[in-house]
Amino acid sequence: MNIILLGAPGAGKGTAAPLLCQKLDLKHISTGNIFRDEIARKTEFGLKVQKMMSEGNLVPDSMVMDIVTATLKTIKQGYLFDGFPRTVAQAQELDKFLKSEGKQIDCAILIDANEDVIVRRIAGRRTCGKCGQIYNIFTGTPPQKENVCDKCGGALKHREDDTETAVRHRMVVYREQTEPLIEYYKTRTNLIAVDGTQTPAEVNGAIFEKIGALAK
Ligand code: AMP
Repeated sequence: MNIILLGAPGAGKGTAAPLLCQKLDLKHISTGNIFRDEIARKTEFGLKVQKMMSEGNLVPDSMVMDIVTATLKTIKQGYLFDGFPRTVAQAQELDKFLKSEGKQIDCAILIDANEDVIVRRIAGRRTCGKCGQIYNIFTGTPPQKENVCDKCGGALKHREDDTETAVRHRMVVYREQTEPLIEYYKTRTNLIAVDGTQTPAEVNGAIFEKIGALAK
């Protein structure tokens, strides 16, 4: 099974992903995480994308597709895409790639949340620099010890592109370039929508309920 998580930055895609991967035996493909890792390792790719990312702009499609297809070729499991595709051109390229491998997208999950909820959520978001676990110091999921990951003890960070200015810009980019994907997938696969303003447990519950209904 191959699934796409759709939704604005901060809607809760990265929070929902680990449980979905665990229960459905999928590999989490977060392009944001892949790019942050490239930046941390100071690779040529990382150095090229650092500024675009910190300003909340998209990385060019050709660069994204090169790194994604190279990654996908090494994976045998089904994929859970998070933050990818982000443009219709990326979605078309992904479809072409999957077709050439005899695969397809089985379901797109839209996690829906309004901008005010998102801006507040992102201001409180803290991400583990080591394992990627996401916390929120304002809402229901703070770490037990300030700035320390409960899972691996790594240091928690506030992402450089999680400032209010960058987030407002990322929302504009989302509306212009990524939101059209909702229509794209509506006509090509099963699209399910869940309310992303709920708690993480409720969001995951709603997703599993709707995925279960698809299988019937
Ligand atoms: P995310 O962690 O998904 O919020 O992504 C963080 C940033 O990485 C985005 O604001 C973009 O600058 C870049 N990025 C991640 N995924 C993509 C993608 N599929 N296409 C273009 N840029 C991306």
